[in-house]
Amino acid sequence: MKIHQHELAYYSMCEFKFMMNRKYQKKVQKHYINAGTLFAHGVYNLHLGKEFKDCIDEIDLKCDELIATMTSQEKIEETLLQSEIIKAMLSGYANKFMAERNQYPYIQSIAPEYHITHESGDITLVGRLDGDVYDTDGKRWIMELKTTTQVDRDMVRRLPVDFQNNFYFFMCSLQGESPIGVIYRWCRKSALKQKQKETIHEYRSRILDDYIDRPDFYFVEDAPLFDLNATERFRYSIASLLFDLRMNIRSGDYPKRYTGCKVGYSLCHFIEYCLNPTKETLETYYTERTDHATDTENQTED
Ligand code: SF4
Repeated sequence: MKIHQHELAYYSMCEFKFMMNRKYQKKVQKHYINAGTLFAHGVYNLHLGKEFKDCIDEIDLKCDELIATMTSQEKIEETLLQSEIIKAMLSGYANKFMAERNQYPYIQSIAPEYHITHESGDITLVGRLDGDVYDTDGKRWIMELKTTTQVDRDMVRRLPVDFQNNFYFFMCSLQGESPIGVIYRWCRKSALKQKQKETIHEYRSRILDDYIDRPDFYFVEDAPLFDLNATERFRYSIASLLFDLRMNIRSGDYPKRYTGCKVGYSLCHFIEYCLNPTKETLETYYTERTDHATDTENQTED
């Protein structure tokens, strides 16, 4: 049985959420732009040395493909606005992290998103990393990018005890070549709205100006080093979680814990069902999963 990192995180909050997420996913609008994924793809291409213009052209191409499937003018306009924000965000990222890169762990090379696995008896643990980075000293780091609407000091402060970070380091340490730390970058989506009578070109240049004028507001980086003692402690937490999980699997009983109903700025995907646990709610808001690998709450924190 494959268990992904995000599933284990769900399990630690609420066993019921874990079980529901294995079986169901929330119905999403068929046509929507995944800002976090498009942006992360652009960042990856930039670090690979692609021309900025080519990265922008790729975003435009993806949006054009999406728009070609749309019939609603409202959705088309929303997609165009979102694509302007993603492109401005990429421009702000390049300005912040690539023009001033000597202030940051210098990125010598970057590997794309990949999965790592570890077998623990009948359970295979799976983690999806945004990428590997090697600095000028040849040291390996994990890279994590989060698109978000908010960044606060506590989000930075908690990184050393972040479940995902500890899980990744734990998994990497089992494979030999451990990274020395995580380069964690929060990239804030602009909340500026298009004004009445403002053309899309004027709107685009206003967002772009804001990203350039306030880089420290939009982009926050922290790069904590991993601590081997903390990883050892984390190993016990994982063993304890897996022990409990096996008991649940055997009994088929997954109680509601009510502790993950709102995490950060997001409500649990299953809040509708828990508020009104009927067949009708299930059919209205959820579809049955055909795979368990989809991580829908991972890349974006808002
Ligand atoms: S809404 Fe709360 S109780 Fe229901 S599954 Fe989510 S975390 Fe558990």
